[in-house]
Amino acid sequence: RRRQAEDYLYRPAATADGTPVRVQVNIAGPADVETIDIATCDGVGLMRTEFLFGKAAGLPDEETQYRAYARVLEWAAGKPVTIRTVDAGGDKPVPGFTVEESNPFLGLRGIRLSLANPEIFRLQIRALLRAAVHGALKVMLPMVAVPEEYERALALFREEADALGAAGVPHSMPPLGIMVEVPSVAIAPELFSRAAFFSIGSNDLTQYVMAAARDNASVAALNSVANPAVLRLIAGVAGFGRDHAIPVSLCGDAGGDPAAIPHLLRAGLRDLSVVPAQLALAKAAIADVAV
Ligand code: PEP
Ligand code: MG
Repeated sequence: RRRQAEDYLYRPAATADGTPVRVQVNIAGPADVETIDIATCDGVGLMRTEFLFGKAAGLPDEETQYRAYARVLEWAAGKPVTIRTVDAGGDKPVPGFTVEESNPFLGLRGIRLSLANPEIFRLQIRALLRAAVHGALKVMLPMVAVPEEYERALALFREEADALGAAGVPHSMPPLGIMVEVPSVAIAPELFSRAAFFSIGSNDLTQYVMAAARDNASVAALNSVANPAVLRLIAGVAGFGRDHAIPVSLCGDAGGDPAAIPHLLRAGLRDLSVVPAQLALAKAAIADVAV
């Protein structure tokens, strides 16, 4: 008799032929973790930090951010937690931070906006460096398009770490990786080999490759991760990572979609991060695929 999807929740994920697959969760804020048993997942593959921004009280201070990040790291009890620096703009406007643009998906968003507002970015960086002592933190940068963005962000992390060290504040430097969600990165990943890891953002990567907005129902059929052009890019990134010992995961919604999972595994991915509601279904879908 076939197992129910729920039977998979507490089991490590593996394909039909026994290949292990890492399955982490995406979380949108520290409250999410109250309802997730850490034993059901391999850690947090994406913690979005936009929830901290866009509050009536204004942008979050360092202490508020530090407490939110530390809480998730404590909950994870040593499993990895990948926190993404703020990805405002595009489909995630933040009043008082993002700017009015005629084409926000191609505008000042993600790492571009953070680098344009270094005083705000430095607060988040300090909060992350301080929180890093509470667990296995990894930090990733959203919407990276050129290697200079990675280098500039890394320099800011190093400057703030030095400043915390000089002030005697406990901190630690986490591995710094990038989202692969702008086609320039997926096409030429070798330009980004200084990144500690890659995490494929299939929501944005698909919309940019297919020129079909992620939030427009009338072009939803075009916005498909299973399109051969999108899958070829994903396979290229997965292969590059394997050849150069750079870990590659995927944290877009496709990772939790049972219809997309066979394509992603066949493209070479072995590390997915899914919304908590899809954890059991994703593990069940993985168990059905022979790779
Ligand atoms: C993505 O683009 O796939 C992603 C995970 O990031 P977000 O959905 O927050 O843009
Ligand atoms: Mg994205």
